[in-house]
Amino acid sequence: RGTFYIVATPIGNLDDISERAKKVLANADFIAAEDTRHSKRLLNHFAIDTKLFALHDHNERDKASYIASLLNDGKNVALISDAGTPLISDPGYHVVNFLRQEAHNIVPVPGPSALITALCASGLPTDRFSFVGFLPAKSKSRRDEMSSWLPSLGTVVFYESTHRILDCLADLEVVWGESVQVALARELTKTFETFLSGSVSDIKQILEDDSNQTRGEFVMMVSLPEDEKDNSEALKILKILLKELP
Ligand code: SAM
Repeated sequence: RGTFYIVATPIGNLDDISERAKKVLANADFIAAEDTRHSKRLLNHFAIDTKLFALHDHNERDKASYIASLLNDGKNVALISDAGTPLISDPGYHVVNFLRQEAHNIVPVPGPSALITALCASGLPTDRFSFVGFLPAKSKSRRDEMSSWLPSLGTVVFYESTHRILDCLADLEVVWGESVQVALARELTKTFETFLSGSVSDIKQILEDDSNQTRGEFVMMVSLPEDEKDNSEALKILKILLKELP
């Protein structure tokens, strides 16, 4: 049987592709990509002309059995996403879950992920952290999610988009107070890579004063205050009040 490779690709700087990733992608029979047009450009850059097919959130359940049949025919299939590590806030989970159940060979080829790239340089605690993906788009649900976090999660890490970054900081300030510590990583590995760290109100001020700081891709990291444990009663009341807000 063939092998299913999960291959990480750069999150901005193309030099971050690994030698092994290039070899695996060049030698695979097929590459399953989130957006084939986008991936074609990346593969052209590395002169890789392996056949591509699309695997995205809407078709991955159907594609799982197709991929299994390719593997049964002895073909090797590599999965990539638009950027970074597949399955990390990207498609692929249903395929990997299905292939594991059918005892296929699955080989990860590690490389960049915005999550780890941001966290390691943030200055916030790294001994324990929780990755919560993308937060809900609506403010009410986002505040509910934020108020469910506990200090035992360690540093809370999430992905955020340019459109919502200011609203998200405003919600964080309401739920966790203006002094909660935040690190914001922007445009990692790219020309305008920036790290900002400080209290949520300071970071919000910096973004309000300079709209350039709201552009691009973001990873947000929050260090929840330890002493909230002593304020658990106050937190419970706050949660109840937040639920009532429009
Ligand atoms: N699978 C990817 C990974 O391993 O990082 C993440 C895919 S997710 C759909 C895309 C989000 O990751 C972006 O909206 C942004 O929050 C974050 N991201 C990706 N590349 C980034 C970069 N170069 N700088 C900062 N954040 C980035």
